[in-house]
Amino acid sequence: MNKNIIVVNNLTKKYKTTDKFALNGIDLKIRKGSIFGLLGPNGAGKSTFINILAGLVNKTSGEVRVFDLDLDKDPKTIRGNLGVVPQEINIDPFFTPMQVMNNQAGMYGIKKKNNQSLEILKNLNLDDKANAYSRSLSGGMKRRLMVAKAMVHSPPIIILDEPTAGVDVELRNKLWEYIRKLNKAGTTIILTTHYLKEAEILCDELAVINKGKVIACDTKKNILSLLDEKYLILEFENTSFKVPERLKKYCIKKTKNSVELKFNKSENSVTNLVKVFEKTKVKIKDISTKDSDLEEIFINLLKK
Ligand code: ADP
Ligand code: MG
Repeated sequence: MNKNIIVVNNLTKKYKTTDKFALNGIDLKIRKGSIFGLLGPNGAGKSTFINILAGLVNKTSGEVRVFDLDLDKDPKTIRGNLGVVPQEINIDPFFTPMQVMNNQAGMYGIKKKNNQSLEILKNLNLDDKANAYSRSLSGGMKRRLMVAKAMVHSPPIIILDEPTAGVDVELRNKLWEYIRKLNKAGTTIILTTHYLKEAEILCDELAVINKGKVIACDTKKNILSLLDEKYLILEFENTSFKVPERLKKYCIKKTKNSVELKFNKSENSVTNLVKVFEKTKVKIKDISTKDSDLEEIFINLLKK
C-alpha cells in the first residue's frame, strides 16, 4: 500500500522562449492509492509537471519514474497507464460525447466488448447527453466529459489539472465525489489546484509548489497546521496602553496606539485575547482579524 507509484528526481524544465526555469529541480514521491495534491499559485509550474508526465511537454533534465519505468525509456507504456485531464477544455464540438468516448477507446485499442463508455458517462451524469453535440454542452458538462474521456482505458492513475477551476459549486461537489469514488476503487489520483480548500477536502498528501520549486511535501494534516495561524489587530483610544505580560509572546508588532498579535486558532481565540486586554482598562477603538491564507503559507514556507 505504501509503494511509490511515481518518483521524480531533480526534474527541471526551461521553455525555449524564456530564460527562467518553469520547474527548477523538483523531487516528488507519490504513493500508490493516494489522492495527491500539487498545490501552488498560478505560474508555479503545476501544468508543466502534469504535461511532462502526460508526454505533452519534454523535460529539460531529471528523472521521472512511473511504476518503476523510466519516462525516457518507456513513454508509451507509461502513457497507457495514465488518464490525463488537461486544464484547457479540448473537446471537438462536432462530436457527441459517445463519439468522443469511442474515438478515445479506438485510440487506446479497447475492444468493443470491453468498452465501458456508457457506464463512465453514467457515472458522470452525462448519459442523457450521450448523443447530443458536444458544442451544445455547458462548460461544466464539457469538463465532466474530459474526465470521462480520460477514464476510457481504465488507467490506474488519473491526473487532473485544475479540475474544478471555473466550475460551479454543485458540479464541483459532484466532481469531488466522483474523484473519491475512483480513489476508493483503487485509482491513484493526482490533481493540481491553486485552491486550498480543494486540497484540504480531497487530498491526503500535498506538495506545495512555488516558482518551480517544491517548498513543502507532507501529509495534508501537517501542511494545514500552518493554516492554524490567525492575526488579531487592536487599535486603542489612548497611546499609553501596555501589552499584558501573558500576551507578550503573541505580539508581533506594536505602534503608539495599536498592537498586532499572532496566535493559533486551535489554542486561543479572539474573544479570549480581547478579554485579557479589556481587563487592563484600555479603551479599544477597533478590532480586526486576519486568517493566514495560502499566500502567507507560501511566504512562511519560503522563509524556512
Ligand atoms: P501553473 O500550471 O502552476 O499555473 P505553468 O506550468 O503553466 O504553471 O507555468 C509555469 C511557468 O512556465 C510560468 O512562468 C509560465 O509562464 C511558463 N510557461 C508555461 N508554459 C509555457 C510555454 N509553453 N512556453 C513558455 N513558457 C511557458
Ligand atoms: Mg496550470
